[in-house]
Amino acid sequence: MSHAGRIERSFTGQAAAFEDSRHNRVFAADAGWLFDRLPRDPDDLVLDVAAGTGHAARTLAPSVRAVVALDATAAMLEQGHNAAQQESHGNIIFVRGDARALPFPDRSFDIVVSRFALHHLEDPAIVLQEMRRCVRPGGRLAVADLLADRQPGTARAQNELERLRDPSHTRSGGPSTPGSPRRKPPHPSRLGSGHGSPRNSMAGPPPAFSPASTTAGSGSYKRSGRMSRTPSTSAVTIERITDWLYCLRTPVVAVYAIQQTSGFILIDSGVVGDEHAYLTALAELASCAPPDVRLTEILLTHGHDDHTGSAAALARLTGARVRGPALDADVIEGTAARADPQLLDWEIPLFERFGHVAPAPPVKLDGRVKDGDLLGWERPARAVAAPGHTPGNIAVFMPEARVLIAGDAIATMTGEPALGVFNVDPEQAKNSFRRLAGLDASILCVGHGPAITADAQARLARAANLSPPPGL
Ligand SMILES: [Zn+2]
Repeated sequence: MSHAGRIERSFTGQAAAFEDSRHNRVFAADAGWLFDRLPRDPDDLVLDVAAGTGHAARTLAPSVRAVVALDATAAMLEQGHNAAQQESHGNIIFVRGDARALPFPDRSFDIVVSRFALHHLEDPAIVLQEMRRCVRPGGRLAVADLLADRQPGTARAQNELERLRDPSHTRSGGPSTPGSPRRKPPHPSRLGSGHGSPRNSMAGPPPAFSPASTTAGSGSYKRSGRMSRTPSTSAVTIERITDWLYCLRTPVVAVYAIQQTSGFILIDSGVVGDEHAYLTALAELASCAPPDVRLTEILLTHGHDDHTGSAAALARLTGARVRGPALDADVIEGTAARADPQLLDWEIPLFERFGHVAPAPPVKLDGRVKDGDLLGWERPARAVAAPGHTPGNIAVFMPEARVLIAGDAIATMTGEPALGVFNVDPEQAKNSFRRLAGLDASILCVGHGPAITADAQARLARAANLSPPPGL
């Protein structure tokens, strides 16, 4: 079994009793002492990494603006979501995700914490580097974890005991344990030395509390799949969904590439300045050089800057035609202002932090798409109006392939479909969600969150009772 599999299995089994002090004394007992030593401000936005049931998130929530609790195990998130509701926390968002590739922009949180999680990870240095990337300059990064004894023999026995208790334990912090190769901690003089890219050289904040607090170290880590030779601003990772459908993901947004015999179709185009990152990714898929990539069409799902940003540059570089929803066309072409979302209370701090990306350059549309239009691709596809997130938001439905690409009408940040956030018309968005849940889709692709690769319709239907997103 893979380590990720061991973690999922172990924590799915532990979720219900995780915070019961009879089973997990050390976890539940010391929280007050630790958090008393973490300075915080009522305006702070906090990220809790490998949050489990959100114990740290729920402890911190009353004293800060909002907390994002990220974990890889759905059962833990669900347990945390239920506990947060019982405790009436209205400002925690539970997000399913990988601590080694945090789905957030650089410097986006005031405080980043992780508590009793690193000893489960195969490479804690990568997670620390990600945590450091996501904390703003002058913010606080706090880590509490197990420390092994300095004596190698004692440390080995401690680690073996931990592993008996929980097979997903890798090793406790402290000096290297024989037989468990461990990345050397960086020399303090290298911290923030400017080594590597700007992403990696941000000066780290001082450690905020003991006993096992630390800041992340060297700038040598490169995110997997990072296109480091291109002048792009974002790291693009390629995820294969089918043998002709790929997700090109940056920390901000997911773009989808459909491979046809005549070339690629891109659905959405990410933020401004990422054109070379996308071309490099497509070149890798086509086994050619970036200038030789055949991109025939860019279809925009809606007029938001994180979806339309690189469309103009990509069209210029490749000659691709650009189509978009008729009802968002004026915004995309730059002749009308974008409508403001009707923010719900809990969305306000998130919108302030994540709702703004660099403005997208206007792009002239070669075609305006309406509800029911057949898209004329090699595999049958039609546009489905899904307004509410924006007035024009369209989804793409491919009935033979049973693929639904929903733009921002649906989000999957917890790993399950939910209503997207920052909607211009929340009621209309709910109706669109129900409409999309009626399509016979097996695969669901969205702008924000992982792709759902099986049973999409059943999972959409379950979510279509439209309970609010977890944590609310
Ligand atoms: Zn959007």
